Amino acid sequence: PRKFFVGGNWKCNGAGDDVKKIVTVLNDAEAPRAPSQVKGLLRPDFAVAAQNCWVRKGDAFTGEISAEMLVNLQVPWVILGHSERRALLSDQMIQGLKVIACIGETLEQREAGTTMEVVAAQTKAIAEKVSDWTNVMLAYESVWAIGTGKVASPAQAEEVHDGLRKWLNTNVTPAVAESIRIIYGGSVNGANCKELAAQPDLDGFLVGGASLKPEFVDIVKSAT
Ligand code: 13P
Repeated sequence: PRKFFVGGNWKCNGAGDDVKKIVTVLNDAEAPRAPSQVKGLLRPDFAVAAQNCWVRKGDAFTGEISAEMLVNLQVPWVILGHSERRALLSDQMIQGLKVIACIGETLEQREAGTTMEVVAAQTKAIAEKVSDWTNVMLAYESVWAIGTGKVASPAQAEEVHDGLRKWLNTNVTPAVAESIRIIYGGSVNGANCKELAAQPDLDGFLVGGASLKPEFVDIVKSAT
C-alpha cells in the first residue's frame, strides 16, 4: 500500500512569527504519524522540502543551492519542476534527495483535449533522468488549478492519476506504477480534500495557500 503524503508548499511565504504560528498549529495537531528555522521548531515526524535546487553540480553560481548542499543541510526533500518555476530536472538535482516532481497541463491544453499527452510527455522527461524510483513521487498540478480556487474535480484528478499509472506501467515497470505515489496539487483546501483523497489513485496532496492556514491539519488527516 502507498503511504498517503501531504506536502505544504509555502512558496515565498513564511518568515519570523508566521513560521512560528504555522509550526505551532502543526506541532499541536493530532496528525497521523527546514530550512533551518523551520527544522529547529518542527516535530520530527514532519519533514522539510526545498522548493527547487540548482541544475548542476555545485560550482561557482552565487545564490543557487545544489542537491548536495540540501543533503548537507539535512533537508531530505525537494520540489522540482513546479510550474511557477519551470525548472528542468537534471541528474544533479536528484542526487541524494527525495523528489516531488511536478507536472500538469495549462487550461489551453486541457481545452484542446491534450491533457494526457502533455502529462505523459512531462513524465517521460522525468523518467529519462530517474533510475531509482523509490525516492520519487509525481505531483499532478494543473496550471489552471494552482492558486485560482479552481480545484480539479475528483473525477478529473482520478482520470489523470490513473492514466499516469498506466503510462508508468507500460513505459517504466508495473512495480513502479503500483508503488509510486501520485499526489494532487491545485486549490486543495480543508473542504475539498476528503473527496479527492478518496480517489483510488490519488496518494496525497501538494498544498499551496491552504498550507499556511490551520485547515492544513485537516488536509494532512484527510485520508484517515
Ligand atoms: P494552491 O494550493 O495555492 O493552489 O497551490 C498549489 C501549488 O502550487 C502547490 O505546489
